[in-house]
Amino acid sequence: MKHLLPELGYNADALEPAISRTTIEFHHGKHHQAYVNNLNSLIEGTEYEEKSLEYIICNANGSICNNAAQAWNHTFYFEALSKDGKRKPTGRLAETIIGKWGSFEGFVSEFSKSASGLFGSGWTWLAEDAMGELHIINEQNAGNPLRNGYRPLLVIDVWEHAYYLDYQNRRADYIKSFWEILDWTVVERRFSGK
Ligand code: MN
Repeated sequence: MKHLLPELGYNADALEPAISRTTIEFHHGKHHQAYVNNLNSLIEGTEYEEKSLEYIICNANGSICNNAAQAWNHTFYFEALSKDGKRKPTGRLAETIIGKWGSFEGFVSEFSKSASGLFGSGWTWLAEDAMGELHIINEQNAGNPLRNGYRPLLVIDVWEHAYYLDYQNRRADYIKSFWEILDWTVVERRFSGK
C-alpha cells in the first residue's frame, strides 16, 4: 500500500498574506511530499507495509515512525487552514476551552506562548485525553500525541520551514497569523465532546 500526498483543499495562494504561495508550494509540494516518499520507501518489505499511518505512528520507532508522523501531522495541519473559516469555537468545545483557560483569549495566549517557547523544531498541539480534558502539548521534531493516547484537535507546525520564507526568524508573528487562518469548524469536528 502506497501512502499518497493528500491534495490541499485550497489553492497555494489561498492563505496569503498569512502564509505565502511560495511557502505552501515548498511546504506541501516538497517537504510534505518528501515525508510521504521516504515513508513509502522505508516500509517496503517490512511489517508496516500494509498498515495505516496511525498504526505506524503508535507502533514503529525511528525513521519509520518519524516519517509516518510527519506525513500525518502535515495533513492535519493543512486541513484546518482556511481564510474564510470560523475564527472562534462555539458550543461544547468553546465551553471546554473556557472551562480550562478562563476565556478563548486566555487559551490563545497560552497556546501561543507554548508554540513560541518550543525549542528547535516541532509541533504544538491542542489534544483531548481519554477523560475529555484538553491539553496544550509541545512535541519535538515529528512528535504526535497519538503515541500517548491523546486525541489531537489542532496543531501548529513550528519547524522553520513552515514560516522562514515569510517571517524569517519571527516565529511569534507567524503564530499570530496562524489564528487568522485556523478554521475552528475543523477543530470542532475533531472534538469528541465527551
Ligand atoms: Mn512542516
